[in-house]
Amino acid sequence: MLRIVDRPGTGRGLITEVPFREGDVVARIHGHVYRTHPTRTTIQAAVGRHIDDLRALSCINHSCDPSTHVDVTALTVTAVRDLVAGDELTYFYPSTEWAMAVPFDCACAGEKCLGRIDGAWRVPTAVLARYRLNAHIRELAAARDAADLL
Ligand SMILES: [Zn+2]
Repeated sequence: MLRIVDRPGTGRGLITEVPFREGDVVARIHGHVYRTHPTRTTIQAAVGRHIDDLRALSCINHSCDPSTHVDVTALTVTAVRDLVAGDELTYFYPSTEWAMAVPFDCACAGEKCLGRIDGAWRVPTAVLARYRLNAHIRELAAARDAADLL
């Protein structure tokens, strides 16, 4: 149902071979382990807790206009819009990552592209508010904003 693709220039990605409706579970995270530190392929589940051994799901690329949402509590990847066969699965990395091990410059070229992607810590709350976020990111952003007011 999902297929890893390797394209010159853009590298590996994950595409769907079947259509999904908005809200559908596209994939489930299972068989994983938790690490205490982030790597290039982990997904953050909480402070000091990073999901590793994601197999094909480690190939989901970032987009500032993502096609899926990764829920680290439900351990699901859900479609945030209707998807057709051939669509790439992407998610908004700062929705799970507070501070990324390997920051990069986004090439999504979207109108609202954030450019440098290095985790939610540097993204203004007004921008984060455009996205569905995991609980630990909402909590860390709230704590950051509270500290900024001191
Ligand atoms: Zn972008």
